[in-house]
Formats: sequence, structure tokens, C-alpha cells
Amino acid sequence: MIWVAQWTCPQNHAAFATAYDDAVRTRAEVDAWGESIFAEVGLRRRCGICDGPVAAEHERSPFPTLEETVAAMVVSQQAQMESRAILDALGQTHDERRRRRIERSN
Ligand SMILES: [Zn+2]
Repeated sequence: MIWVAQWTCPQNHAAFATAYDDAVRTRAEVDAWGESIFAEVGLRRRCGICDGPVAAEHERSPFPTLEETVAAMVVSQQAQMESRAILDALGQTHDERRRRRIERSN
């Protein structure tokens, strides 16, 4: 079965995600990979939009294959990146408000 794991806040703003086949990788392996990303990339464990806590969620993919799942995730990611850019431009994200506070104090 194909699953989507995403690291998301309570308002469902996703920080990052991956898809996996549970015949190949276990949920624990995927969780461990996700945890390693925070350290490797230097991500905060708080949402950049609302500052809520970020945690892993696993959901069954609506698609039968990994390839179809990843293709849908790429489309969704692009839409989310565009939405995020608009929210940042409007100063409506935690990260952008923080950046502007730092800029004003310098
Ligand atoms: Zn959020």
C-alpha cells in the first residue's frame, strides 16, 4: 500500500512530505528519515506560516502507485509554494513577520 507522510502543523500547513510503499519501507523508517531532515536542513519544528508545532502524519494515498502519488504531490507542492509566496508578500506568515521585525530592529 502507498502512503504519504507529511510533517505538518495542526492547521495542516506542510513543511515537507514523502511517499512510500509499506512493502518496501516501514513507518518507523520513514519517521526516522523525517526526523533526520530537521537536523540536516536546519528546519525549525514550528510552522513557518502559523508557528504551530510540526509533527509527522501518515495517510493512505488515494493513488494505487508510488509514481502517481509522487506526481500528485509535485502538483500540490507547486500550488502550496505559490500560496506561500503570496502569504509572505502580504506579510501574513510567521516567518515573514519575524523577518520584518529583525529588519526593522537593524
Ligand atoms: Zn501552520
